[in-house]
Formats: sequence, C-alpha cells, structure tokens
Amino acid sequence: GVQIHKVQDGLKPIETVKNIIAVASGKGGVGKSTTAVNLAVALAQFGARVGVLDADIYGPSQPILLGVKGKPDINQKQQMVPPKAHGVWVNSFGFLIEENQAAIWRGPMVVQAMNQLLTMTAWPDLDYLIVDMPPGTGDIALSLAQKVPVVGSVIVTTPQDIALLDVRKGASMFEKVNVPVLGIVENMSVHICSHCGHAEHIFGEDGGKRLAQELQLDYLGGLPLDIKVRENSDRGTPIVESEQHSEISRIYQQLARKV
Ligand code: ADP
Repeated sequence: GVQIHKVQDGLKPIETVKNIIAVASGKGGVGKSTTAVNLAVALAQFGARVGVLDADIYGPSQPILLGVKGKPDINQKQQMVPPKAHGVWVNSFGFLIEENQAAIWRGPMVVQAMNQLLTMTAWPDLDYLIVDMPPGTGDIALSLAQKVPVVGSVIVTTPQDIALLDVRKGASMFEKVNVPVLGIVENMSVHICSHCGHAEHIFGEDGGKRLAQELQLDYLGGLPLDIKVRENSDRGTPIVESEQHSEISRIYQQLARKV
C-alpha cells in the first residue's frame, strides 16, 4: 500500500500528486541523483505511480540517468507533458535550459524556473513525486518547501566527514521549513573490488550511520561504491531495473519500502 504522509497546512498541493519527497545532499557528487532515480524506479516496481522532478539546476542529470532524449510536449494548457521512462515520469530543469547555461542563472530566475516546473507540469496521477534537489541549501530548496507540501526528505551523503558536515546544515534547513527528514542514506559506503572482492572504505566507515545517530535521524541504508552503478547510470538504465535482483538493487528496494 502507498503511504500518504501528513503534510504541513496552508500549502497548495499539486492536485494529481499524493506525496512529494525531496532527495537532497549537503554537497555535490555524493550520489544524490543516482539514489533519487533508483528510489523512484524501485517504488514503481512495487506498483506505485511515480514521477521524478529534476530540480538540480547545476547539473540536471535525470534525463541522462533515465535515457530520455528530446523535450517534453506542450499541451493545450501550455503545460509540459513529462515523458515516461523505466516506469516513471520525468520533468527536468535540463528540459528548460540549454546545456552550459545553468551556472549563470541568478536567484530570481532559478526560483521562477522552479515554480514553472512545479506548477506547469501535467503530472499524471502520482503516488510519489521524487524531487532531485540541487546540492546544498539554496533558493530552490526554500521555494520548493514554501510552495508545495513536501512530506519528507531523504538526505544522501558519503561517509566522509566533509560531506557529513554539510548534511547537518541540510537537516537543519529542512527542520526550519517544517519538512521532516525521513532519514540518511550513506552512498559509496564501501568499495568492493570487482577483481578480488576486497572491501575498502574509500570515504571512511559508518560516518552516515554515526551522524544519523547523533542527529536522531533514521539510517535508511548504505550503498556500496560499485562500477556497475555508474555504468548503468551512464547507459540510461537505473541499476535497480537492469539488475533488479542484485544485492545493490535490494538495498534500493529496501529504501523504497521505508519512504
Ligand atoms: P550527485 O547527484 O550527488 O551530484 P550523482 O548521483 O550524479 O551525484 O553521482 C556522482 C557520480 O558518482 C556519477 O558519476 C555516478 O554515476 C557515480 N555514483 C553514484 N553513486 C555510485 C555508486 N554507489 N557506485 C558507483 N558510482 C556511483
């Protein structure tokens, strides 16, 4: 069964969407987008209707991760019609902007574009809208939380101290805007050598778990640093779909059960 979370009062929901969940990270490159897309596809595998909103203006990667080319159609109401891939519907900043343009946008433009994505997308009926947030704590996170009811956030980090520092900031930002943090995902928690099977903690060990304890947040699981994750991402097929019964996919599926 699909959970319907309680949300803060006073915000106008997106009519066709039951649960909006933000996937965030303190800094870039920790695997937030990879986690977001695999979580979304895992939820769809369980029978939920799922959309992905790629709000990462500095590196909108969901079209690539889902292997979507071209731009959404525009319907008669001038809304973007999100394409469907691997069982999920997707809209992205990447569809609005030309390549290499994002970095030069100023705050107000970013907020305007975010609002456009939120209000001018013809989402079908969805149980979950997974929002791939930009890294850090900027205008987009605030405008999302202040515009639509976000039922919860998932924070992705590596076990490394420097990444963990930023998680604290992220968690406290969500607290301030009344978005519950559903928990912490530790990505790249261990590297397993594809030749010899040796396990190496490249970014440190258990940092995400310890931080979750310290901040009294749920620890939602740890994903290994595995070349297959990256290869499948680059190919435009999330690993949770292409290797549905692998150990890694099982961790993403467990994560999906927890949101
Ligand atoms: P973010 O959204 O935090 O910037 P991405 O999801 O884009 O991070 O991941 C950054 C890079 O790391 C990408 O090349 C991605 O394929 C790779 N990556 C992410 N998670 C893993 C993992 N568990 N194993 C291997 N590569 C990963």
